[in-house]
Formats: sequence, structure tokens, C-alpha cells
Amino acid sequence: MIQGIDHIGIAVRSLVDRIPFYRDVLGLGEPEIEEVEDQAVRTAVFHTDAGRIELLEPLHEGSPIATFLERRGEGIHHVALATDDITGGIGAVRDAGMRMIDAEPRAGAGGADIAFVHPKSTGSVLVELCQRRRGGGA
Ligand code: ZN
Repeated sequence: MIQGIDHIGIAVRSLVDRIPFYRDVLGLGEPEIEEVEDQAVRTAVFHTDAGRIELLEPLHEGSPIATFLERRGEGIHHVALATDDITGGIGAVRDAGMRMIDAEPRAGAGGADIAFVHPKSTGSVLVELCQRRRGGGA
């Protein structure tokens, strides 16, 4: 059901300040920039041969990423695991008596369906289940 790591989500205060490390120093090329209204974030996604790096900048105060930055500062926000059956994944988590943040899949960056597992159920790791739509390259 889980196919591997899809991406690492990293909370940043400013994409403009943080993009140069990944683009220029690490040579990952120009990121895809996208606003995901549902999560109130602007994302910069770098593609590699083995997973993506997703920088997350809050769109406004009071959004989940803004709250995370206030409490914990910049850093790794979540780990996204690729799945070919997100509905089954949500069911497996709930059947195990663990908490989902998202009971239903919702829209993430790059046209993916995503759902977060509650970090209280995972030893403080915010785990995202991520299913890419068929044929969607992003
Ligand atoms: Zn993500």
C-alpha cells in the first residue's frame, strides 16, 4: 500500500529566502510554485529522482503553517508517504485505533489527494498519506 517517500514538507517563513539553497547550492533547478488555498500555503516543490522537497510558506497569519512557525520555528513539518490507495490507508489507520486529522482525502499540491495522520498517534511525526492522480506528472 505504501510505495515510498513522496516528499518531505519543510516550513519556511519566506520562500524567497530559502529557495536559493535548494535551487542554487544543491542544484535542484527551478521549483514549481503553487498556492494551495485549502491549506493556506504557498509551496515550492523541487523534484529529484527519489522524491520531492516541498517548502511551505504561510499565506496568512493564523494558518496552520503560520502557527507551526510561531511555536516551533522553521524546520521539517511533515513526511509524505506515497500510496496507491489513500482511502484504504485512512481506513487502516482508523482500524488500528489511531487518529486521522483528515477523515477524507483532500486536495494537496500538484493535484495529489492527501490526508494527514494525527501526530499524537505517530510519536509526534506529522505523516501525510499522498496519492498522485493517474497520469498527473506533477
Ligand atoms: Zn505535503
